[in-house]
Amino acid sequence: TPIVSMHQVGKVFPNGYTAVENVNTSIKEGEFVSFVGPSGCGKSTIFKMISGLISPSEGELEILGESGSDQQQQSNDVGFVFQDSTLLPWRSVIKNVMLPLEFQNLSKAEMKEQAEEVLELVGLKDYAEALPRQLSGGMRMRVSIARALVAKPKLLLMDEPFGALDEITRQSLQSELLRIWESQKMTVLFITHNVFEAVYLSTRVAVMTPGPGKIASSVDIPMPFP
Ligand code: ADP
Ligand code: ADP
Repeated sequence: TPIVSMHQVGKVFPNGYTAVENVNTSIKEGEFVSFVGPSGCGKSTIFKMISGLISPSEGELEILGESGSDQQQQSNDVGFVFQDSTLLPWRSVIKNVMLPLEFQNLSKAEMKEQAEEVLELVGLKDYAEALPRQLSGGMRMRVSIARALVAKPKLLLMDEPFGALDEITRQSLQSELLRIWESQKMTVLFITHNVFEAVYLSTRVAVMTPGPGKIASSVDIPMPFP
């Protein structure tokens, strides 16, 4: 079964604006799909519907075989990272990473253990007690990725995560993301304006047309690894 399935999905906002129209797509477990397309074509709106932040006004959307009914289960299965993912400035790195676990029934020790595991995964275990302002932009992005991964989501949504980073930091995070994607056997959906980034990272690139979001074509990319 697909992890995400969209059939004739559309979104008309309360002000009457149609941001997304007739999206049909099916995403299999383990895929890394990038969405590219001009500003305003509805990429973020599609992600917000997949994450459950907003609901579609037309069509059917299923995540992990559920049509949005089991919200609690879904929220643990979906992690997100945004370009400006905000860390709580007064909380240490590890306390920021533990945030999503606070809605689960875990002991302090279990929370700490899971947080330390993902901090290690993103190479920041020595910075657990640092405050966000003591870190560089790339390190803060790694903390955001760790926070998105800590509840072990099956699906990771990333909305222009590296858009604000310099080229060198971006490249190192790209390879780190691929390593994490492989080792965690996750499905990743990724929004970017950068076509090179999309082609480098993804197993499939969904190209969207201007205007109310339509996926014009979907291109399979050969795996970048042997
Ligand atoms: P993208 O991520 O591709 O840049 P978005 O999904 O953010 O595009 O937005 C698609 C369109 O929907 C844009 O024209 C945007 O202005 C509009 N839009 C987004 N959110 C709302 C909203 N809450 N109400 C009305 N229009 C919105
Ligand atoms: P904890 O789980 O340890 O309570 P918090 O993040 O809630 O973590 O709070 C940590 C410390 O930061 C507390 O001393 C709290 O009073 C302080 N704090 C909480 N919110 C803010 C804020 N908005 N600005 C500055 N300090 C805050």
